[in-house]
Amino acid sequence: MTDDDVRFLRRALELAISAREGGNPPFGSLLVGGDGAVLVEERNSSVTDSDITAHPELKLARWAGRELDPAAAAEATMYTSCQPCGMCAGAIERSGLGRVVFALSAEQLAALKPPPVTGLGVRLDGPALPDEAAVPVEGYYP
Ligand SMILES: [Zn+2]
Repeated sequence: MTDDDVRFLRRALELAISAREGGNPPFGSLLVGGDGAVLVEERNSSVTDSDITAHPELKLARWAGRELDPAAAAEATMYTSCQPCGMCAGAIERSGLGRVVFALSAEQLAALKPPPVTGLGVRLDGPALPDEAAVPVEGYYP
């Protein structure tokens, strides 16, 4: 962890505070290019946008996928106020971003939140037809 890492994490925390002040969950993130320049910043806007996917990490991953070539994405770092959730982690992986630095772990966040109402989550059944489901995928990836 460098001094620049800490500086960019503190900026992510400022964005998280800004999100909260704007009526949204308290999360913020920014992308920094390989040259150390800030590329783009985002805040959670899931309440004001009425969009359950409006996490800053997902917005930045989508931005990187659109705007950066693979080499630039690999050199970029996402600084984020909290460890990305599963949804965002999947998008970050697909974006090709090279590094994520977070200030608060998912476990530390969970300690600050009330427990889930049901704790049941979504029912996930499968794999149900693995042989048939493999057919459209086979040969797609080099
Ligand atoms: Zn997320």
